[in-house]
Amino acid sequence: MNCPTCGIPVNSTNATCPKCDTPLVNHFVDLLSVVDVAHNGEDWPTAKRKILNAVSKALETGRKGIKIIHGRGESRGHSSVIKKHSSQFLNTLARQFDAKLVKDRNNDGAKILYFNS
Ligand SMILES: [Zn+2]
Repeated sequence: MNCPTCGIPVNSTNATCPKCDTPLVNHFVDLLSVVDVAHNGEDWPTAKRKILNAVSKALETGRKGIKIIHGRGESRGHSSVIKKHSSQFLNTLARQFDAKLVKDRNNDGAKILYFNS
């Protein structure tokens, strides 16, 4: 991402541009936070914590949603455990936050949770 005012590369976690102080938050509202919970050898408690962190961060910064990459769950064991648990957990979160849970059209190993939809 680049600052919309001065064009320097900025990190989407910055609240303002470090060079020109343009507030960046509003420019990132339409972006989804992305969290990968499946490709670092996560066990389910770790994956769950990552999802919860992503949810609270997204709500704090006013993101419209988060994308959760849980893997396709094709291989037996680890990968399918993460997929199964995260799918259930995301359904619970969707009810809890009145959010909408959809499959990522571009990645069948990911789901998107839209807040305020
Ligand atoms: Zn700037």
